[in-house]
Amino acid sequence: MSEEKRYDLVIIGGGPGGYVAAIRAAQNGLSVACVEMRGRLGGTCLNVGCIPSKAMLQSSHLYEEAREHFDVHGIQTGDVKLDLKTMLGRKDKVVTDLTDGIEGLFRKNKVDYIIGTGRIIDNETVEVSPGGRKKKQTLSTDTILIATGSEVATIPNVEIDEQRIISSTGALELSKVPKSLIVIGGGYIGLELGSVWRRLGAEVTVVEFLDRITPGMDGEISKRMKVILEKQGIRFMMGTKVTEAKALKTKVNLTVEPAAGGDAQTLDAEVVLVSVGRKPYTDGLGLENVGIETDRGFITVDEHFQTSAPGVFAVGDVIPGPMLAHKAEHEGVVVADYLAGEPGHMNYDTVPGVVYTWPEVASIGKTEEQLKDAGVKYAVGKFPFSANARARTIGEKDGLVKIIAEKETDRILGVHIIGPDAGTMIHEALAAMELGGTAHEVAEMCHAHPTLNEAIMEAALAVNKHTINM
Ligand code: FAD
Repeated sequence: MSEEKRYDLVIIGGGPGGYVAAIRAAQNGLSVACVEMRGRLGGTCLNVGCIPSKAMLQSSHLYEEAREHFDVHGIQTGDVKLDLKTMLGRKDKVVTDLTDGIEGLFRKNKVDYIIGTGRIIDNETVEVSPGGRKKKQTLSTDTILIATGSEVATIPNVEIDEQRIISSTGALELSKVPKSLIVIGGGYIGLELGSVWRRLGAEVTVVEFLDRITPGMDGEISKRMKVILEKQGIRFMMGTKVTEAKALKTKVNLTVEPAAGGDAQTLDAEVVLVSVGRKPYTDGLGLENVGIETDRGFITVDEHFQTSAPGVFAVGDVIPGPMLAHKAEHEGVVVADYLAGEPGHMNYDTVPGVVYTWPEVASIGKTEEQLKDAGVKYAVGKFPFSANARARTIGEKDGLVKIIAEKETDRILGVHIIGPDAGTMIHEALAAMELGGTAHEVAEMCHAHPTLNEAIMEAALAVNKHTINM
């Protein structure tokens, strides 16, 4: 690259927000550079988030199936053994194959991939520090996109050492199955990673400050999920606050007390996973150099993802909204189209959320609690997987589909599923809701038999008090 080259767009951060925006902008005819300090593209999602966690969820699920559930199918397995090293190696290979794939996509789309830490100098200049003895580089550009994502949030007196007190990143790397694991935080990341290590043999306890897990999820589904996870062997301590963690040689001492106040007690575990959320990452980014406003650390943007600094945009976990890879990706596409003068569309009402435990939990749109608070009149239709033929054939009858529709118009406002492959099924609801569909319309569609999606059709029927298989 010549020193004088001026880009249309320089992106700081090569995660789902940044790399997707880079490819789309290049396809839209813009000259693009993407600066990434990790040394690998794909961000949190591909390197230490969505992808390695799902690889471990899949492997641990198969292990548990083979150990506990194959016999009902008449499959005798003998003594099923865990080879954790191979399991972790497979996970690493899935990650590198995918991250290498993005480098290939950058080459194909002529995006310049620049390894180093980006810092905004002014509205048209990004300085890149490659680290080590390598010289700094200055990139000049018409626009800058910040896609620097998020980092692990912490709590006072609990210091993460990634050995005994670990973050989600450490939880993807444990070289031996701990006898006991305490997960601080009952959000989706803690429940997924807690499920992985429980399946592999750890005694797992989740300590949650609130009186419910997965805040934000429909209350009924959240309760149901807790019961199912308890049945699988996860222990929950609700309404409990962690005040201190002390890492000793072979265990961690955790001091907890009731969130509402009361006597403290000490818990022991071989490993403690801190999973209390994530916070936007803007360290050393030079936001002050261009006067970018933030709100509780999140970069403030307008409807076109423009920050308070002219010519500087931001997407993904670093701006407000659900911290999800597909939300970051979609924002990346919308901003890249906007910069190329194309229309873009981001509908925050239809961003699905999926928890990849087993069974999975998937939601889209409003919960009952949100509608009650907003005073909206609604009707609910539900259908249990125990009455779905396909769920019976695969031996997965836990859970239900719940559809909430506006009382007056029948328009679908929210869909919540707990059950097998809920994360895939939810996309039927996404399509219906994006197109403004009603429960009646979904109920009238001829669904293939026998499929899990028939439970969506039945729940849609139930909204208007009809049923077939109940
Ligand atoms: P990131 O992916 O965080 O990428 C930002 C990149 O910017 C990073 O690579 C960072 O190194 C780089 N960077 C930061 N500052 C600089 C700088 N100054 N210069 C250069 N580079 C910089 N989401 C889902 O939708 N589904 C899931 O199943 C899911 N599972 C998850 C599991 C775990 C364990 C975790 C931790 C997260 C999970 N997430 C999941 C969340 C998802 O990973 C994030 O929402 C997503 O990665 C956000 O994308 P982003 O591009 O905004 O930021």
